[in-house]
Amino acid sequence: MNALFTQTPPRLGNQYRDDAFLRAYLRRVLPPEVLREIEPQLEELGRLAGGELYALGLEDRPNEPRLTQWDAWGNRVDRIALTPMWQRVAPLAAEHGLIAIPYEARHGRYSRLHQFAAVYLFHPSSDLYTCPLAMTDGAARTLLVAGNRALIERALPRLTSREPRRAWTSGQWMTETTGGSDVGRSETRAVPAEDGGWRLYGKKWFTSAVTSEMALTLARPEGSGPGGKNLALFYLETHAPDGRLNGIRIERLKDKLGTRKLPTAELLLEGARAEAVIGTRDGTRHIAPMLAITRTWNSVTAAAFMRRATALARAYAREREAFGAALERLPLHRETLAELETETRAASALALELVALIGRDEAGELDDAGRALLRLITPVAKLLTAKQAVACVSEAIEGFGGAGYIEDTGLPAILRDTQVLPIWEGTTNVLALDALLRADVDAGVAALQARVAEALRDAPAELAPAVAAATGALAHAAAWLPAARSEPPQLQAGARRFAFTLGRALEAALLIEHARAAGHDDGPAALAAARRLAQAPIDYIVESPADPSALLD
Ligand SMILES: Cc1cc2nc3c(=O)[nH]c(=O)nc-3n(C[C@H](O)[C@H](O)[C@H](O)COP(=O)(O)OP(=O)(O)OC[C@H]3O[C@@H](n4cnc5c(N)ncnc54)[C@H](O)[C@@H]3O)c2cc1C
Repeated sequence: MNALFTQTPPRLGNQYRDDAFLRAYLRRVLPPEVLREIEPQLEELGRLAGGELYALGLEDRPNEPRLTQWDAWGNRVDRIALTPMWQRVAPLAAEHGLIAIPYEARHGRYSRLHQFAAVYLFHPSSDLYTCPLAMTDGAARTLLVAGNRALIERALPRLTSREPRRAWTSGQWMTETTGGSDVGRSETRAVPAEDGGWRLYGKKWFTSAVTSEMALTLARPEGSGPGGKNLALFYLETHAPDGRLNGIRIERLKDKLGTRKLPTAELLLEGARAEAVIGTRDGTRHIAPMLAITRTWNSVTAAAFMRRATALARAYAREREAFGAALERLPLHRETLAELETETRAASALALELVALIGRDEAGELDDAGRALLRLITPVAKLLTAKQAVACVSEAIEGFGGAGYIEDTGLPAILRDTQVLPIWEGTTNVLALDALLRADVDAGVAALQARVAEALRDAPAELAPAVAAATGALAHAAAWLPAARSEPPQLQAGARRFAFTLGRALEAALLIEHARAAGHDDGPAALAAARRLAQAPIDYIVESPADPSALLD
């Protein structure tokens, strides 16, 4: 009787073992001895992600971080209590070396793939703890690139520590009320202090997670002119040695659509002690390595959310019946699930391609063309995977019918959390312009064409239409670029279509490359995904778009 009134919840297994694409991909690209060495960790993270952490996340659902600004005696304290889930996953992240792995670099060029395979498994069961991790990784990289020895010696061992009690995370405080995309308008002032350091005064409008031990931030040294060039990059620790906040007031925690486990605060800097990381100008340039890393985390976590949503939708479709059959047997629902699986694979392949390139760059193996490719696909992968993730997670939730809309299934939170991915670390438009207007875009496109040609070499004959779709779209984008340059507004207006086309063409090529690789047991699925993606929209270029003025003015 009871069974009539219940629905079977979707069950997750080991998220590494169940991920045929990820396993086949790693088997294809990693040397066997590297895979042998890292696989036990991936198994363990897959077990945790589909088991204990998934269950804990559901149980922890109603909890949110809490800010206490005053103690009982009228003292300003600005303390944040984290959720039980965050208290569980923070030490796990350190112990698993989610930041340490690429800095230890045990596997050379493959170290980044190792790290991000682990991140991909960890992320969907971490309640967005990957946000501070991303910024921590970005801060470590930025300090290394800047070459400030004192700060490297002070902070790097903490940022990359595997010991939970020693490990620090870092914030990235850029956005002000004047703008997140247009940070050149930042108003935070830096005033030289008698001790040789600096004091910062201003308001940071979005800071996640404010519980980090340090932050990298931008401020304008007193007397400097306007614009991004006149901002400097600063390092600060959030607490003084006596445990009090370092000239920082937490005004409030943001009341957000999603990412609610992540304490995002508005901060007042009231003389926060800080050190210049590298010189007193060009802050936006010096913080660029941080953004390159956080955008990569964004791409990987987008793909990871897609994998989680797809895994849940597929698991549910095996159990739930309608019209006398399990959902997964109904032809149209099968079509929907196949599309989710295809898009998840495409986004994963693109994100992992970016990761592999960073690994090679950090191992000193990229030539000029490789670096131009890396610079181009960093924004392209971020913007495309974020958009794919929102669409995919939304579709996956619809796959649960009404249950997908009900909070205590845990499903709505995935959609809300995913919705931040196209916004932070650069919106879709801002990144599309970043890709299009960079000085070395032509070199990047040429390198992309070479990479796509390599991926398509010796493609199976049955994938000939897919090969034609990928190469045709890319050629179209490459031809559009010089033609559009003669009309700058048209060029800007086409930036999204250009970036989507580059990204989709690369995704199509990467799925074909994956399908071609002989011997992996993902073969039939890989072929089907490559064929399907090529049947989906790839070429977004429009030669003569209708003028928006008639609609808007
Ligand atoms: C949950 C959350 C956490 C965050 N955490 C942090 C953090 O820790 N640190 C931090 O520094 N920031 C953080 N941010 C801020 C985030 O990075 C910014 O909100 C984002 O970069 C966009 O900036 P903005 O809000 O000023 O939007 P705007 O720049 O005002 O953008 C508004 C719209 O205009 C479009 N647009 C802007 N410029 C152009 C252009 N030239 N051409 C075409 N379209 C354009 C954008 O695409 C967007 O659609 C966080 C944001 C959120 C939501």
